Amino acid sequence: MSLLITGSVAFDTIKTSRGVAEEVLGGSATYCAYAASFFTPVWLASAVGEDMPAENFEDMRQHHIDTTGIEVVKGGKTLHWVGRYSNDFQERTTESVDLNVFGDYDPTLPEEYRGAEYVFLANGAPEAQKAVLEQLPNRKLALLDTMNLWITESRPALLEVMKMSDGMVLNDEEVRLLTEEPNLLAAARKVAAMGPAIVVIKKGEHGAILLADGRPFVLPAWLTETVIDPTGAGDCFGGAMMGYLASVGEVTFEALKTAVSYGTVVASFCIEDFSLNRLKSISLDDIERRRTEVASMVSWN
Ligand code: AMP
Repeated sequence: MSLLITGSVAFDTIKTSRGVAEEVLGGSATYCAYAASFFTPVWLASAVGEDMPAENFEDMRQHHIDTTGIEVVKGGKTLHWVGRYSNDFQERTTESVDLNVFGDYDPTLPEEYRGAEYVFLANGAPEAQKAVLEQLPNRKLALLDTMNLWITESRPALLEVMKMSDGMVLNDEEVRLLTEEPNLLAAARKVAAMGPAIVVIKKGEHGAILLADGRPFVLPAWLTETVIDPTGAGDCFGGAMMGYLASVGEVTFEALKTAVSYGTVVASFCIEDFSLNRLKSISLDDIERRRTEVASMVSWN
């Protein structure tokens, strides 16, 4: 099934206790697309500046990510985000974010992309997310991601795009901000009542909660011993989930549970190195091996 991912393609400067990475490839849609590409080919829609090196597009294509939907804005600059993590990785501070051409992104999808059945709206302005959905008359499953910035600054537009989406993936802090409900299961039910019937709450190293058909499912995270850079873990979680669902072409509760397990595992690889480095070094076999280990970690008689 055809999968379209939209969101940011960016340069990140990341400061962690394990080192600093300057102006490396990042962006919500980039992480999401690489994660999904283990399962299915991806169409990627975004906007970057002329400063984005051609090698990055070439590498995406080698990973079955189609880049014709990435607009290269003449004379423009790519989104640049600078983030710093606390020593224990529990807190992240945005030191600066220059949205640049992504701030003016008004998506016009290539004709071919308009037939997409599966769509993941990775973190970006809700107005642009809505514009993408409006160009997809055949969509079967639309999953939405967002961040604090849009919850506080663009709430009315976010509420509109939530009504148009089938599912939403967000972290514990975001869901509490969105719903003003401290209890996560109650918060997930509130989100479902706002539009997206499928809700996934990511809790970082504490795993994830799925709510679908009113039924909850929980899975702990993989017990990672090597954390280098948590950037993009949430996007990888959503991307892997969506890539798996698009590859099987069904959205049952069982398929969603399996999708959450792939999200958990791909996110755990992402944080083992800066940028997309770790994702580029693994295969679906590595993902399957770790998924089996996760299963043995959580099963009992
Ligand atoms: P995550 O760690 O999953 O929250 O995603 C981090 C990615 O989001 C980074 O690679 C950033 O480039 C990207 N990012 C940061 N701020 C924004 C923003 N306002 N809109 C879209 N993407 C952003």
